[in-house]
Amino acid sequence: MGPETLHTDTLIVGNGVSGLILHYVLQRKGINSILLSKSKNQQNLPLAETLPPSTLELLEEIKLLRLFESKAKKTYGYQSKWVGTNIIDESFFLKSKFGYGLKIDKKKVSQSLKEQCNQIIEINEVNIDSRTKWSSNIFVKNNENKSLNIHTSLLIDATGRKRYILKQAKIKEISYDDTLAFLCYVPKTGPNLKYGFLTEVFSKNSWGTVSDLNETTRIISLYTSKENKQISLFKQYNQWKNLLHKTDVLKHCIPKQGNFKVYGRQANSSIPEKITHNNILSIGDAALAFDPIASHGVSNAIYTAKEAAYSIENYLANDHRSLVNYEQKLYSIFNEYISQKEKLYEMNFHKLTK
Ligand SMILES: Cc1cc2nc3c(=O)[nH]c(=O)nc-3n(C[C@H](O)[C@H](O)[C@H](O)COP(=O)(O)OP(=O)(O)OC[C@H]3O[C@@H](n4cnc5c(N)ncnc54)[C@H](O)[C@@H]3O)c2cc1C
Repeated sequence: MGPETLHTDTLIVGNGVSGLILHYVLQRKGINSILLSKSKNQQNLPLAETLPPSTLELLEEIKLLRLFESKAKKTYGYQSKWVGTNIIDESFFLKSKFGYGLKIDKKKVSQSLKEQCNQIIEINEVNIDSRTKWSSNIFVKNNENKSLNIHTSLLIDATGRKRYILKQAKIKEISYDDTLAFLCYVPKTGPNLKYGFLTEVFSKNSWGTVSDLNETTRIISLYTSKENKQISLFKQYNQWKNLLHKTDVLKHCIPKQGNFKVYGRQANSSIPEKITHNNILSIGDAALAFDPIASHGVSNAIYTAKEAAYSIENYLANDHRSLVNYEQKLYSIFNEYISQKEKLYEMNFHKLTK
């Protein structure tokens, strides 16, 4: 007897915020959706990501504001020190409709979303078996190593910067910089931060952030270019004191005792050559990856999931332009972002010509 075959309208690969929100919204709309969650060996680190007030409006629209608020702390802005000696107070959150943003606990948000949905399959492995313009056959090994075939009309890449499905479909990505992030969790040390978050530049192409995760723990993240000749120092926590010695705030947030694990992450701006391709559609970081200075990743995950749900609903009602419309909307957002980033970094990026 061959492997069991399941049929679905939408198969989502990836259980980050984008995949889970899309799955949640589709199921609320009555659309048949399966989500594949790779639980083993994954490091979905809590990063205490900040959501600006504009994102709360999106969450309200998809009826998830309460769920997010219950797993978050309110925040009223952030502080930064880019040039000169002054620490700038960015408290514009207060002027918005909500008057606050959210610092979320992504692990708790994800767990809560999972509890609201069904049809989530824990897997070890997923591969595209065959694909036509209108459907895909996916071969899956679940977490008990049992084989499954899933036949789906739409296949969603929600695997973040890995772009696992897009890569299997041979879709290349375009990268606009080579920023890397190095982060570690340390016991709370140094000054109290007014908004629990501060950014400080420490050399021509390197900056760092300190972010309160909870009452006792802080996340310190350092960002730099892959080409930085001192890159090996970023990978070793015991070198951070030296790297940060010229900073005003960051150096005080490094505990004097202890050696902490440093996690490396890609943090560059990139986009796939095709955000949608026949019956494949990407969301979240897989669709548009912003660099962390934009503080835009989770907002983008929520926005793309919301827009994708709308396009999928129309696509399944035979409006085949809807996926193209989704892609074009995202390209125009990314073009605008690149031109803003260009100004911000005073760099000369080439605009996407799509
Ligand atoms: C240091 C740092 C700080 C950040 N700070 C902020 C911030 O303050 N505000 C903000 O908005 N954003 C921030 N971000 C960005 C934000 O975390 C991401 O943009 C967001 O989590 C992306 O969500 P996603 O669902 O698209 O992808 P992800 O969260 O990457 O989820 C992808 C999922 O796919 C799964 N997966 C991968 N490969 C496979 C496979 N082959 N099969 C099945 N599953 C697979 C992974 O295990 C993961 O669960 C930060 C990022 C970093 C690195």
